[in-house]
Amino acid sequence: MTSAEADATDSPRYECGVCWHVYDPAEGDDVAQVAAGTTFAELPEDWRCPTCDGPKSKYMRIGDDR
Ligand SMILES: [Zn+2]
Repeated sequence: MTSAEADATDSPRYECGVCWHVYDPAEGDDVAQVAAGTTFAELPEDWRCPTCDGPKSKYMRIGDDR
């Protein structure tokens, strides 16, 4: 069995469908005081896009295969 635990650096990034702001788990979100290493799924439900104030539901996962 392999370890499937992903670091935040391996977590998917999400892009705002309104303004195309990208939430990068490796960086967190300074505006909302979200610590670096917080995955998108771990963001609070009331977290909003720091750029356009759009809700989490507007975000879409973007591929980041490397
Ligand atoms: Zn936005």
